[in-house]
Amino acid sequence: MDDLYREVIIEHHKYPHNAGVLENPHISHEEFNPLCGDRVRIDMYVESDIITDIRFQGRGCAISQASASMLTDEIKGKSLDEAKTFGKDELLDLIGIPLEHNPVRIKCALLSLKTLKVGIYTYIGEHLDDEEL
Ligand code: ZN
Repeated sequence: MDDLYREVIIEHHKYPHNAGVLENPHISHEEFNPLCGDRVRIDMYVESDIITDIRFQGRGCAISQASASMLTDEIKGKSLDEAKTFGKDELLDLIGIPLEHNPVRIKCALLSLKTLKVGIYTYIGEHLDDEEL
């Protein structure tokens, strides 16, 4: 693993961005990765389809937590549509370490993205208007 990238992960793990919970969030979802024991919960405020604030809380390995820190930085201020189309390749690029040959680590890295997307899709489903059916 490249030392520079390693340092980014350690920094985000030690000093996570957007750590914590939101009071009465519009979206709150938690996912668990049984392969590694990682947990990530993501809370969001949504106003006019924009994610105006986002926080995460979790525990587990450095990659899972650093991933949540970087993902929440990236998603804050984006629209729900933009967040929906934010893909795993983009997240893996952000994290910056080659994980292609390590499926267990990929699960760790993608846990935050799964949490985000299940939360967003659940919210969209709950707010579907009759006209959108
Ligand atoms: Zn992990």
